[in-house]
Amino acid sequence: MSPEKITVRDGRLEIPDQPVIPFIEGDGIGPDITRASMHVWNAAVEKLYGGRRKIHWKETYAGEKAFEKTGSYLPDQTIEDIREYVVAIKGPLTTPVGGGFRSLNVSLRQILDLYACVRPVKYYRGVPSPMREPEKLDVVIYRENTEDVYAGIEWEEGTPEAKKLIGFIGKELGKKIRPDSGIGIKPISVTGSKRLARKALQHAVDHKLASVTFVHKGNIMKYTEGAFKLWGYELALDEFRDKVITETELYDQVMAEDGVTPTVKDGAFAGLRGGKPAGDPGGRVVVKDRIADQMFQQVLLRPDEYDVLATPNLNGDYLSDACAAQVGGLGIAPGANIGDYVALFEATHGTAPKYRGQDKVNPGSLLLSGVMLLEYLGWNEAAEAIKTALEKTILDRVVTYDLARQLDGVRPVKASEFAKAIAANLP
Ligand code: NAP
Repeated sequence: MSPEKITVRDGRLEIPDQPVIPFIEGDGIGPDITRASMHVWNAAVEKLYGGRRKIHWKETYAGEKAFEKTGSYLPDQTIEDIREYVVAIKGPLTTPVGGGFRSLNVSLRQILDLYACVRPVKYYRGVPSPMREPEKLDVVIYRENTEDVYAGIEWEEGTPEAKKLIGFIGKELGKKIRPDSGIGIKPISVTGSKRLARKALQHAVDHKLASVTFVHKGNIMKYTEGAFKLWGYELALDEFRDKVITETELYDQVMAEDGVTPTVKDGAFAGLRGGKPAGDPGGRVVVKDRIADQMFQQVLLRPDEYDVLATPNLNGDYLSDACAAQVGGLGIAPGANIGDYVALFEATHGTAPKYRGQDKVNPGSLLLSGVMLLEYLGWNEAAEAIKTALEKTILDRVVTYDLARQLDGVRPVKASEFAKAIAANLP
């Protein structure tokens, strides 16, 4: 069998048994973690599928290596490669100082319209965590990636643009803004919100998860964050009607069973009937919403009541790091940026330049991003095997320096040794 491209046909991905998948090695520690992770990915695919399936890795360039080769930090060819082959993975990239880009990562997301930032957060036994029961948190965060205050539409205090805008808003719209203000715009659209909600709901349906929660600050920002929530519900009821039940519907059902007339129509209902999730959703995904600040309490106090969290850009940024920290996994948390079909998986940390070339750091973040990639291909057996082997390796206390320093009496291993141990532990 020969290498083939992943294609999109009739709105679905077609995955050949021997797909070509571009990878960007990344800067700083990128080459170390890419080498280590690739060892494990290849070993898992080989072990699980024999010669039947194989990934043909195709190097494509961004960052310093691209600059050396082409004079550009983000060559057009790289964008083309990712578009053409649909699925790709990348190590961390240095943001070039004084270059034309705000950040290569942001540029990649914008050019390829990768509108959903997906961050699964799950505990691996043996990882040091600040929580008593870190395993109770097992969520996938879908964060909108293109809008909100991250759209990059802002003007510095004192500039003619800021003054003009303040004048316009005062004169034409009757809203007073202090003249010495910087101005940022927070656009949240029907389009951006609904396509994100669609992805989050589809994930819950595909993986038979119990709930999707829209996280928002709509009590204060009604027409942006509040609208994000409303459009999310709208999409859920328009496109997933037979697969979902809203929390309000469930609440009404419970109240009717208890012979009580429902009085509350919105808000946090989880925990009715003695702290247990209320009612029987009948196998449907429960669609609910939580206000962002209260969500930070929920993930600490009642983490097992949440499965998929769908968030606007800024909330999602905060929430994904907070959740990752809870399971001790900030350094090993994986991520992906996904558009309609194109998906770019990536390590969530930076290039840690001081460790460059030392074969020292934890490849876990990139490794688990590759696990997400395998799941995206539908190669779940290989993905599961890597997760099992990673957990076993950590439980054996074979870990890199970052985890070793949090464990008593453990000598760290190199990134490559960690990868070899994981490959050897593949079930
Ligand atoms: P960083 O590279 O993430 O490193 C910060 C610290 O996190 C490191 O010093 C190290 O902590 C720890 N760390 C990061 N990766 C690790 C790993 N694989 N294993 C173990 N520990 C790890 O953040 P930064 O120093 O702020 O940023 C450096 C560069 O990366 C910048 O150019 C930034 O623009 C870029 N960046 C890129 C991305 C991306 O490509 N997605 C994301 C963030 C930042 P200790 O010092 O405690 O050992």
